[in-house]
Amino acid sequence: MTASNASQVIHSPQEMRSIVDAQRRLGRRLGVVPTMGALHEGHLSLVTRSRLECQATVVTIFVNPTQFGPNEDFSRYPRTLDQDLELLARAGADFVFCPGVEDMYPPGFSTYVEPPAVSQRLEGEIRPGHFRGVCTIVLKLLEAIPADVAYFGQKDFQQALVIQHMVRDLLLRSEIQVCPIVRDDDGLALSSRNRYLSDSERTKALGLWQGLKAAKSAADSGERQANVLRELMTAALHRAGVSSIDYVSIAERGTLNELEQLTTPAVALIAARVGSTRLIDNLLLDPPASSRTKA
Ligand code: AMP
Repeated sequence: MTASNASQVIHSPQEMRSIVDAQRRLGRRLGVVPTMGALHEGHLSLVTRSRLECQATVVTIFVNPTQFGPNEDFSRYPRTLDQDLELLARAGADFVFCPGVEDMYPPGFSTYVEPPAVSQRLEGEIRPGHFRGVCTIVLKLLEAIPADVAYFGQKDFQQALVIQHMVRDLLLRSEIQVCPIVRDDDGLALSSRNRYLSDSERTKALGLWQGLKAAKSAADSGERQANVLRELMTAALHRAGVSSIDYVSIAERGTLNELEQLTTPAVALIAARVGSTRLIDNLLLDPPASSRTKA
């Protein structure tokens, strides 16, 4: 399919599954990109990666109610389907799966996935039930679309780790690929929620990137004390005018355990509110060469 053709839109999980089966019979390597829509270049980078590595690409668009808490933004989450379909046609997605809530959660639905241990801290602590909803919907999407590869963004670092653990623990067939964060020119990580920000809030939101960069540049200059890095992140957020901070974290990359010393590959993570918009971002940190633990 050429990049300008409309993608085939599918609503029913059963129809989606039979299309996937047909693709398999043709021997095509299949990629899936799960999203909640309101698409931007970050999402499209996952589609591009799938098109490079696979012969057919399915993008899913589903705002999943079970991953939103009762006081979160499920009802006001942006829904821009027509524009999304245009972007996906241009990006060359072959299929777009956009089921209704009743398709994914039939009446009487009561089965959920118990998320893995890496879900417990950070987002899991602030958003109880969030990863239960994420794991449940991703498992169901991977059942409807048993792709060879599922593409996720590092933007949601903990989510990608949670999914990797679930796939390993439940013996799912899809390989998980985690792709780099796409940022605006000034560093702000692209997010569907950025559209909620006023101009002045958007300027404040840069505090997340400034905090992460401050931690990285200190780590690159040899700082090993994780507390010093956390303080640098908090100070940058405050300087930008962000006072409502859910967490700043310097965590071990594979477990998300909080670190005291930067002696192992780590990740700096921030979650904060700017106005009424909750934003998250992260940046990988490497330990100073002199303090790396020997393999
Ligand atoms: P969402 O629609 O927010 O659920 O995101 C769908 C997928 O796109 C997730 O795997 C996200 O991590 C990924 N994603 C969101 N924002 C970005 C970004 N700025 N760069 C790369 N991937 C992203």
